[in-house]
Amino acid sequence: MTTNQQLLQRREAAVARGVASAHPVFAARAENAELWDVEGKHFIDFTAGIAVTNTGHCNVALNQAVADQMMRFSHTAFQVSPYETYISLCERLNQAAPTQDAKSVLFSTGAEAVENAVKIARHYTGRSGVISFTGGFHGRSLLTMGLTGKILPYKSGFGPFPNDIYHVPFPVEVHGVTVEESLTALNKLFKTDIEATKVAAIILEPVQGEGGFYQAPEALMTALRDICDLHGIVLIFDEIQTGFGRTGKLFASDHFSVKPDLITVAKALAGGFPLSGVVGKREIMDSPGPGGLGGTYGGSPIGCAAAHAVLDEIERLDLCKRSEHIGEIIRQRLTKLKTTCPSLPIGDVRGLGAMSAFELVEADGQTSAPELIGRLVVQAREQGLLLLSCGYWGNTIRLLPPLTIEDTKLMKGLDILESALLAEFVEKEEV
Ligand code: PMP
Repeated sequence: MTTNQQLLQRREAAVARGVASAHPVFAARAENAELWDVEGKHFIDFTAGIAVTNTGHCNVALNQAVADQMMRFSHTAFQVSPYETYISLCERLNQAAPTQDAKSVLFSTGAEAVENAVKIARHYTGRSGVISFTGGFHGRSLLTMGLTGKILPYKSGFGPFPNDIYHVPFPVEVHGVTVEESLTALNKLFKTDIEATKVAAIILEPVQGEGGFYQAPEALMTALRDICDLHGIVLIFDEIQTGFGRTGKLFASDHFSVKPDLITVAKALAGGFPLSGVVGKREIMDSPGPGGLGGTYGGSPIGCAAAHAVLDEIERLDLCKRSEHIGEIIRQRLTKLKTTCPSLPIGDVRGLGAMSAFELVEADGQTSAPELIGRLVVQAREQGLLLLSCGYWGNTIRLLPPLTIEDTKLMKGLDILESALLAEFVEKEEV
C-alpha cells in the first residue's frame, strides 16, 4: 500500500515547495462530502476543494455530462471552431446574473477571469487605475497578485507588481475598521495618489474569501456604487469564491441593493473542471474588439458541459435554500458551543449562507490567535475532518462543506469539530 508518508517524500523531492497543501492527506477517492486517502482513512470534507465542489465530489449528473461531452469532442478552441454549449452557458449566466442586459466571456481560472475583467474595464474607460481592498484575494498571476491585499505568502518576493493599483482598507467592524474609515481612505486616495477620473475599476469580493469571510457592509456597497457612477468607474464584484449558491443565493451580489457592472466567476461554476468567466453590462463587455479577449482553453467544452450540469443541479436540488440551512446549522452549533463552553477560544462566528467561519482568539476574547488555528486543523484531521483556515491574521477557520452534504454527514463533521476543539483547548489544559 502506498502511504501518505511515501507520497509526501516524493512530493518534497519532485514538486516545487511554493505550492503548499493544507493537509498531508493524499486523495484516493471522494464522494459527495467524504474523502478517502491512499491509506483508506476516511474524512468528512469541509473544504470542497476551496469552495469548488458545491455540488459534491463525483456528482453523478456532472460526471455524466462531462463523459458525454468527452465522447463528442473535448477540445476545438472556441476561437477556432465554436460550439453551442459555450453560447448557451453565456445565455444562462446573462439571465441569472444581477446585471440586466448582460453578456459573458469564458476563461479557465479565477485569476484569468479577474485579469480579463480589468482588461475590459481599462479598455472601456480608457483609464488605467485599479482600486482593490486590503485582505482581498484575486489570484496569483502578476496583475491579480498586485490586486491581492495580503503579503505573506502570496506577494512576498514576487514584485514589482503592475503599477496603478491602489489598496483601501476593507471595513471589518469586528476588528475596528468602519465603513466611514474605508470611504475616508478612498477619498484621500483620490486626493493624494490618483484622481478619480484616472480610475478604471474598483474591485472587491462581496464576502472576502481568503481574507477571512468578512462580508462587505451594505453601506460600503451603496457608497461604492455612487462613487463609481459619479466618476465613471467600473465596479467589479469578484464572486469567484462566493458564487453559485455558496452564500444562499446564486450570486452573493443578490444580497445587496446595488449591482456591479462586471462579475467574475470560477470555482463552483463547473464543480471542479477548470472554467471561469466575466459577466457584465453589454456596453462594457463589448468594448474590446475581436481577438482582444480569449485563450486556448477558455470556455472549454468540458468546462461548459460541467457548468450546465452544475446549474441544473443547483436548481433541481434547490441548493441555494440548502446553503442557508447548512449555514444556520453551523452557526447555531458554534454559537451554542461558545456559550456553553466559555473556556474555548472561539471568537467571532459569522457567515452568509453556507459561507461560514469562526475565529480563534486569546483569553481576552479579542486578540487573534493564529497558532491555535494550526493546532485545531491538525486535531480535526486526526479525528477525520478536513478544515481550511483563512484570514489575513491567519485567525479564521472557514467551513465549506459541499451544499449537497447529507444532514447526517454535516452533523458528524460538526461533532468532530466540537470534539477537536474540546480535545485541543479544554481537556488538554485540564490534565
Ligand atoms: N478571486 C477569488 C475571490 C478567489 O477566492 C480566488 C481563488 N481562491 C481567485 C480569485 C483566484 O482563482 P484561481 O485560483 O482559480 O486563479
